[in-house]
Amino acid sequence: MTLRNWSAALLLGTAALAATPAMADDVAPSARVSSAVLVREGPSTNTAILARLRPGDSATLVGEVSGWYIVELPGGTRGYVSKAWTIVRAADGDAASAAGRHTIHVIDVGTGLAVFVEGPGFALLYDAGSQDDLHGGEENRVVAYIRAARPDLTRLDHLILSHPHKDHLQLMPAVFETFQIAHVWESGRVNKTDGYCHFLKAAMAEPGARYHDAIAANTTRSVTFTGSGCNGTVTVNQADMMTEAPVALGSGASMHFLYRDAHPYSDPNENSVVVRLDLGGKRVLLTGDAEGGGRELPAMPPSPRSIEGQLIACCAAELKADVLVVGHHGSLTSSRAAFLDAVGASIYAISSGPYPYHRVRLPDAEVVAELATRGQLLRTDREDGFRLDDDARSCEMRQRKVGPDADETPGGCDNILIVIERNQPIDAAYSALVD
Ligand SMILES: [Zn+2]
Ligand SMILES: [Zn+2]
Repeated sequence: MTLRNWSAALLLGTAALAATPAMADDVAPSARVSSAVLVREGPSTNTAILARLRPGDSATLVGEVSGWYIVELPGGTRGYVSKAWTIVRAADGDAASAAGRHTIHVIDVGTGLAVFVEGPGFALLYDAGSQDDLHGGEENRVVAYIRAARPDLTRLDHLILSHPHKDHLQLMPAVFETFQIAHVWESGRVNKTDGYCHFLKAAMAEPGARYHDAIAANTTRSVTFTGSGCNGTVTVNQADMMTEAPVALGSGASMHFLYRDAHPYSDPNENSVVVRLDLGGKRVLLTGDAEGGGRELPAMPPSPRSIEGQLIACCAAELKADVLVVGHHGSLTSSRAAFLDAVGASIYAISSGPYPYHRVRLPDAEVVAELATRGQLLRTDREDGFRLDDDARSCEMRQRKVGPDADETPGGCDNILIVIERNQPIDAAYSALVD
């Protein structure tokens, strides 16, 4: 492109500035970008490449022309990026251009965890597991819930596995069958179970999906399973790594992996991927089964080598959040007061059910009491008692059950809905959604 054309293009850009919603907004790669968006000299793919915007990068929006945003890079260089591969993120505090509404659904899967998050331009699922509901296909509770909440949804931009325990992954295969998955994220910690084997095979078989772990980038590794229900060698194709670099989600939203470790600890809970979602100016912390140590009262300090202990030591400021999806189903192994202080949330969600973990039914009363002093507490286990038939029937009769009604498994009644809208208090309640 000649200098004269470049000036003409900038003039065209200047002419369009009036249509730009807010001058201080950022342009970032959209969720479907896996490597980089090219910043070009002009509004055409025939012009020279000036720079690359990788996931997590952004540039200042200074204007737009048909099909292209004009951006300014740190250092002052201006160029063009395709609108098809980028999103505009509102500058903080700019209410006018941030009409985005973000919804967090803590799905009542019985004994386990599944958190569905949707916002402008993206949908995400963190875990899909249950100890006591193993249905596939349309009977799968996670699929049934997402179908009821978003009948139009065909694609999940991000699927994150916190750690390879059954109560976090057992319902995943039907999720792969039902939705197109763009990105799969996990630590890479292998668990030689049939459930994890099914998950990994589904991730590798998903057309077009990019898989990310905390082990390596752009290479392969092999995992051999010898289980009776799922076996063979899986070649794992790794795209770019799960790192501390934020991942852009959609308008005004990003995802931050605060803890990621694939080391084969004896307890996979110690591999829990801790994710902070920044959604329209608010923060949500997802902690999987991250722990603070053994079963002790919240007042005890977390052990220094526990995930809670390590996160406090390395990055306490990063933990600050408005909403905490509580670690390890509200167990005494987690939610030490020092960790809760660092997070400082005002809303707490516990996902649990009637199935005991090592003979302990979660959540623990002491953790529930501690959280209740700190803010609003919601629980998915309220009507999942041991007398499954009674509980299931009562919640069905009140037509609050989402998912299969006649499966004689707990869950489905106490789905938690947390709505974030800019400049509004967060709204958290049990969902009135009925399928
Ligand atoms: Zn768990
Ligand atoms: Zn676990």
